[in-house]
Amino acid sequence: MKIVVDRDLCEGLGMCESMAHEYFEVDDDDVMHVLNENPPEEDRKMITAAVNSCPVLALKIEG
Ligand code: SF4
Repeated sequence: MKIVVDRDLCEGLGMCESMAHEYFEVDDDDVMHVLNENPPEEDRKMITAAVNSCPVLALKIEG
């Protein structure tokens, strides 16, 4: 599983971070960083919740 971010869409709103802070971090300049692009299968539920929380649909899961 791979986390993919559409940088043109992401506005650094941080919903993903609040759902899965082990994987997403928004810095002081509102730039979101993916801390680990390849989560283990056991975290799929949490990553899916984070992806679905993004209000601008900037996240998706591949694989
Ligand atoms: S919730 Fe969406 S817009 Fe907000 S930081 Fe995450 S990916 Fe970017």
